[in-house]
Amino acid sequence: QQARIGVTGLAVMGRNLARNFARHGHPVAVHNRTAARTKALVDEFGHEGDFIPAETAEEFVAALERPRRLVIMVKAGAPTDAVIEEFAPLLEPGDMIIDGGNAHFLDTRRREAALRERGLHFVGTGISGGEEGALHGPSIMPGGSAEAYQTLGPMLEDIAATVDGTPCVTHVGPDGAGHFVKMVHNGIEYADMQLIAESYDLLRHGLGLEPAAIAEVFRTWDSGRLDSYLIEITAEVLAHSDAATGRPFVDVVLDQAEQKGTGRWTVQGALDLGVPVSGIAEAVFSRSLSGHADLRAAARGLPGPSGERLSGADAERFADDVEQALYASKIVAYAQGFHQIQAGSAEYGWSIDPGQVATIWRGGCIIRAVFLNRITDAYRKNPELATLLVDDHFAEALGAAQDAWRRVVATAARLGVPTPGFATALAYYDGLRAERLPAALTQAQRDFFGAHTYRRADRDGVFHTLWGGDRSETTA
Ligand code: NDP
Repeated sequence: QQARIGVTGLAVMGRNLARNFARHGHPVAVHNRTAARTKALVDEFGHEGDFIPAETAEEFVAALERPRRLVIMVKAGAPTDAVIEEFAPLLEPGDMIIDGGNAHFLDTRRREAALRERGLHFVGTGISGGEEGALHGPSIMPGGSAEAYQTLGPMLEDIAATVDGTPCVTHVGPDGAGHFVKMVHNGIEYADMQLIAESYDLLRHGLGLEPAAIAEVFRTWDSGRLDSYLIEITAEVLAHSDAATGRPFVDVVLDQAEQKGTGRWTVQGALDLGVPVSGIAEAVFSRSLSGHADLRAAARGLPGPSGERLSGADAERFADDVEQALYASKIVAYAQGFHQIQAGSAEYGWSIDPGQVATIWRGGCIIRAVFLNRITDAYRKNPELATLLVDDHFAEALGAAQDAWRRVVATAARLGVPTPGFATALAYYDGLRAERLPAALTQAQRDFFGAHTYRRADRDGVFHTLWGGDRSETTA
């Protein structure tokens, strides 16, 4: 018997992905550099479906029906190149290599081009949902050729999460498009988590609520428009007590957030594209700030406000205000992420359909949320939408939230609770809607010190003022 697909790299992700294929009736060849992992998988889960274990690369390739479909689930970076180099020489034109690791999209573009030269399809595929998702249905973001997707797509649709009968997978676009979209997904995830963390911090320090009480607030939010996986797990974490000390679990975790780098990649990519993803950037920087224990220790004694808490009417409406600020800031974070997707799509000629992206993020992935239906609707209504902020639904929600949003940011500043995510989202909103920006002054300064020229609001042309001379205006 031959396998319809093969998975090499059987750590948590690969092993669960292989099981997912097998459970859906696809005979799956399995291989791992360290053969013990392969054996362990078949010993433990062999009864779940047809697994064809392979010890060597040759055995693995021989086990696959043609055209061969070979999924790589190894550590991203150099190991991926090493594994490609191990298998590519054993493959034949028309075969495909599917990289499900968290590769950088520029690596995927490079690998795709190199393998295309050799007649092989390379399908860089973003997979989100962690190990549980890999087993029960992830959100899958494949790039690569449309030809490869034709035969691979139906198998991915089998194993993906489904929402309202629609599988959370689509052919995102050529070469690196899938990994690019996965990267931005992770960036948005950073922003979303940061906003949730700020909400918690405000409820804790603004109202003096204990984590268990805040868990209740999040549970309420989870039954409304913020209904999402991240809000749900936030409530679970906040309600959890540490077994050893009996204290709220969140209080015994060291307050230094780590990162694996996809948020940073998103921001680096956005800088290159000139897209202001300030919400994602603040989230990355906030994790970074939290990790600078030495700086924090040095600064701890600096003066802050007097430690007051909210009272009276301010306190009464505060939880609702924070919900409004969270929803509004979330709209901004997603608007920024989708801006980056559209800019990347234009830069690399990917023709990504943003509405489709929102659709496949509704299930399986970490940012899955009811909210994403709204984004799909927005792009369905208007595929040329300049920014999500101006979609009817979102514009109305922002309008309704803005007073509360401003109160929350002002309150945070007054109480000394850091809310970079809320603040930058509000600044982005105000920046985009401003009639005039002080960018005019910036541009004038640039002309003053560097003769960088400027354009005028009242007529066409490029101008320079002779700042060091008689200050007359010249045309450049
Ligand atoms: P790891 O990223 O921890 O990678 C371990 C696997 O890579 C093992 O199978 C290991 O083999 C193999 N490997 C490492 N170096 C080499 C090499 N030079 N040659 C051959 N094989 C090598 O595993 P995960 O399952 O966590 O993740 C797999 C991929 O999926 C990664 O790219 C990750 O970024 C991505 N991903 C992970 C998610 C998660 O939640 N963990 C979510 C989404 C994507 P050996 O057993 O021999 O050491």
